[in-house]
Amino acid sequence: MSAADAAFQEEVRDFIAENLSDEMREAGRLNASSFADFTISQRWYQALYKRGWAARSWPAEHGGCAWTPMQRYIYDTEAAKAGTPAYFSMGISMVGPVVMRFGTEEQKNYFLPRILSAEDIWCQGYSEPGSGSDLASLQTRAVRDGDEYVINGSKIWTTGAQHADWIFCLVRTAEGEKRQEGISFVLFDMKTPGIMVEPIITLAGDHEVNQVFFDDVRVPVANRLGEENDGWTVAKYLLEFERGGSAYAAMVDASLEKLRDIVEAEPVGGGVLSDDPAFALKLAAAEIKQQAAEYTEHRTIAEIVERGRPGPASSIMKVLGSETNQWMTELMVEAVHYYGAAYQPEARVPGNNIEPIGPRHAVPAVPKFLNFRASSIYGGSNEIQRNIVAKQVLGL
Ligand SMILES: Cc1cc2nc3c(=O)[nH]c(=O)nc-3n(C[C@H](O)[C@H](O)[C@H](O)COP(=O)(O)OP(=O)(O)OC[C@H]3O[C@@H](n4cnc5c(N)ncnc54)[C@H](O)[C@@H]3O)c2cc1C
Repeated sequence: MSAADAAFQEEVRDFIAENLSDEMREAGRLNASSFADFTISQRWYQALYKRGWAARSWPAEHGGCAWTPMQRYIYDTEAAKAGTPAYFSMGISMVGPVVMRFGTEEQKNYFLPRILSAEDIWCQGYSEPGSGSDLASLQTRAVRDGDEYVINGSKIWTTGAQHADWIFCLVRTAEGEKRQEGISFVLFDMKTPGIMVEPIITLAGDHEVNQVFFDDVRVPVANRLGEENDGWTVAKYLLEFERGGSAYAAMVDASLEKLRDIVEAEPVGGGVLSDDPAFALKLAAAEIKQQAAEYTEHRTIAEIVERGRPGPASSIMKVLGSETNQWMTELMVEAVHYYGAAYQPEARVPGNNIEPIGPRHAVPAVPKFLNFRASSIYGGSNEIQRNIVAKQVLGL
């Protein structure tokens, strides 16, 4: 690490030490998602925003930090180590880059500052009942009426729609010969009349996802991003960022640290779990996978530096990162054994004074395990990512 990078690392550590409250740390430790503790997560985001560190991948002209890949890597590693809470970042990580690339000057001036300050929270309206992997089959229809589109249909698995101010949405504006050619990309206010949000409660008992219904929702044509019927180009560009920007390696590394702490503490026979050769082997395999994830992430970052976008290699990162994270959560459940079985959601609320059943480190093990099951489905299922790697990376 260069002297400048080492100084930057110190700066990051100081910032985290000053701004990460005990409550935020607890939220990061107890919950896998940002939605269980939305207000706490947003407080952490605001600390980053005030420091000018909210948009790590945005260029300086739009208020981004313009960090070098090494600086981003340092920040992500320190944040994961400290256990900063996850925050709701679809504005920064997804819609922001596409507004920069495809938006008019007016759209850029209006949306980007509001995304950056989190004045507007965004959600993603791609998937529909019946259209997930086969996204181009989507049926939500937008019919033009003067200067407005009238939108009818439904989106599903919409993460965070209950908190979102705006939605970026794929809608069908024409029936072309090729299904991809009749789709447009529109942005609209979640307070527009005709929108209804129905919660879907996940296996872990959390409210993260929703089904959203549109009944004659009127959206100005000026809110379309890109050309009419060319929304597929915008949608595909956005997906690269969705798959590439998760700092998986740092997350896996932080999980490994936690796992090491647990195996040092869990009693087995006369000793602790880390003395067990079978578990030690699994721990070693996890360390190897973490390194593979880290090197793959470096390749994706190099791609961003060279070409300005993550490219199809982000699909490798998505598969490797999500599956390694899933495996880490499996090992944690194995490590806490029967204490994982206790269902105690109240013990996951930050600030609670409940004496949990079993050790404290066992409380989030099963909820995190269940939560991470979804990571090989969302952002495009891993089977689909493998198809992309086969075709676009390996040229098969
Ligand atoms: C927790 C969570 C959060 C989500 N958040 C959002 C969100 O905010 N916004 C949003 O728009 N969507 C969101 N999604 C939806 C997600 O993108 C879709 O679930 C995903 O794309 C898969 O689509 P599907 O559920 O319709 O499954 P399907 O497409 O029906 O797939 C079912 C199974 O078949 C496999 N399969 C399908 N086609 C192929 C193929 N060609 N080759 C090999 N295997 C195939 C899949 O891998 C999967 O295992 C979220 C999903 C989850 C679980």
